[in-house]
Amino acid sequence: MELVDQFLRKINYLRISVTDRCDLRCVYCMKEKMEFLPKKEILTLEEIERLSDNFIDLGVEKIRLTGGEPLVRKDIIKLIEKLNYKKNSTNLKEITLTTNGTLLKNYSYELKQNGVNRINVSLDTIDEDKYNQITRFGKIKNVFDGINEAKKNKIKIKINTVVFKNFNEMELENLIEWSNSNNHDLTFIEVMPMDETDSPRDLQFVPLNKIYEKLDLIYNFKKTNDNTGGPAKYYKSDKLKIKIGFITPLTNNFCESCNRVRISSTGKLYMCLGQNDYVDFREIMRSDRSDDFIKEKIRFALSIKPKKHDFMINSEIKPYMKRHMNVTGG
Ligand code: SAM
Ligand code: SF4
Repeated sequence: MELVDQFLRKINYLRISVTDRCDLRCVYCMKEKMEFLPKKEILTLEEIERLSDNFIDLGVEKIRLTGGEPLVRKDIIKLIEKLNYKKNSTNLKEITLTTNGTLLKNYSYELKQNGVNRINVSLDTIDEDKYNQITRFGKIKNVFDGINEAKKNKIKIKINTVVFKNFNEMELENLIEWSNSNNHDLTFIEVMPMDETDSPRDLQFVPLNKIYEKLDLIYNFKKTNDNTGGPAKYYKSDKLKIKIGFITPLTNNFCESCNRVRISSTGKLYMCLGQNDYVDFREIMRSDRSDDFIKEKIRFALSIKPKKHDFMINSEIKPYMKRHMNVTGG
């Protein structure tokens, strides 16, 4: 079975935010003072599993758990274990994770045991003080320890770096060299105008086409057709053994090939990261509805998936999304 949207894009990738909570407060993601949702509003693990089952029946092949920080969700491994069983008998082929890495030291072994072979770790700098600054209080040692533990357990790591104005623009070559020496592919991401944080988005945003041009002078990039199922465009260089990716929602729209939808921790299905529309599944899950009804709603949601996002950043208009990134995950 295949899930296809109104523009005939095949949708086989589901991202699930398993919690809105996080042990960090990255300045482009959250405000310093955040209010998190009461537990009763968050889908239970059983509800997440049932919703996932319906998506998998309809053709979803890849699930990414995200957040907030997915590893702060209690019993997250139990959910992964259950999803992993489904790989034997359903459409599901891969379960992966986007994490800030702080808790990987504790969880890498269990992740690997439960079929997680690749993860994305978010890291915007390799400088201890700057890391503490961008995350507002994080300790980089926890991330390095976590990455080492994941490596020991043979989990393949891709590093995600948000390029933040006047913060890490000058450091990207260092990040490339560090990633290269540790054999982690590295993807740069443009700041996206989700709900307001504590500084205006136009003071955070760096267009990645300009960064690409500068780095290309050093690395003489060659475009690859590699695709990990996400929105990044990947490049290789004779000087590197890793791939460098660029995720450029603002400077180079990639919506034409979008293959994904996102469920928030409260069960809202967002058909597009850069739009405010959603279909709410929590009440459906909590009423006496059949799986057929859930599938019908999923198909309906896909039939109204928008053609493209509405992201825009400039100093005059502020078309912010009405939610922070932790609602749907990256
Ligand atoms: N806590 C996990 C982490 O940081 O990897 C998962 C959730 S986090 C919201 C997912 C990704 O979104 C991270 O790579 C993060 O850097 C990125 N992100 C958060 N806010 C963003 C924004 N406004 N624009 C672009 N990327 C953002
Ligand atoms: Fe937490 Fe990830 Fe957001 Fe940073 S980007 S505050 S680690 S959810």
